Amino acid sequence: MPAKLDQKTNQRPDKKEVLTVIKIISKEINQFIEPVVSRIAKQKKNPYKVLISCLLSLRTKDEVTDIATKKLFSKINQPEDLIKLSTKTIEKLIYPVGFYKRKAVTIKKISKILIKKYDSKVPNTIEQLLELKGVGRKTANIVLGFGFGKPAMAVDTHCHRIPNRFGWINTKNPEETEQELMIIIPKNKWVEFNNMIVAFGQNICRPVGPKCNQCSITKYCLYYRKVYMNKLNANDTLTINNKH
Ligand code: SF4
Repeated sequence: MPAKLDQKTNQRPDKKEVLTVIKIISKEINQFIEPVVSRIAKQKKNPYKVLISCLLSLRTKDEVTDIATKKLFSKINQPEDLIKLSTKTIEKLIYPVGFYKRKAVTIKKISKILIKKYDSKVPNTIEQLLELKGVGRKTANIVLGFGFGKPAMAVDTHCHRIPNRFGWINTKNPEETEQELMIIIPKNKWVEFNNMIVAFGQNICRPVGPKCNQCSITKYCLYYRKVYMNKLNANDTLTINNKH
């Protein structure tokens, strides 16, 4: 569990500061492997594959999603291909993503609906996407943003945790975070923001044990000032006391 901040500001952050932080993080993440879903979106330019990869990535590490999507997409390109496969075959192809049995059923059901209701296309509105069983707001926004290039703020665990650590927001759940971030982040940066924060969260600002000593935005981070520095100071005091 991430450490809790006991003090937060209720003020929204300064726009300049937000843009500065975005700029620094976008540069910093160049050294890391891009999150799998955005990589697939860039390579395939296929909203159906973005949708499927996003569903497979839920509660699954990127490395595992990467292998599973490669295996699955070597066999399928569109919903018609997927529904021809037996559920057992799909399970085998996507194993070991989390909940692979349930996901095999879900992606097959969704593919059937796409064929029947949307002429084999992925719908491009949030309302229609949310009607698909198994698709939540995060997935829907990822499909809109990465699959269709529409401005959409997809909030996953990293996008919820990290702006709260910065002190930009003080929210209890991803829905509240989505609403706040849409106010704070310029619209033309919404998709990029998800992509960079996921990479940043996987590599630096991790859920447990954020690497604050390697972070380049410490001066903009409330967690750093209120939690990390306090811990360091407490450790120093402990060391000094132990010496005497
Ligand atoms: S200073 Fe620490 S908590 Fe703050 S953004 Fe960097 S890694 Fe995350």
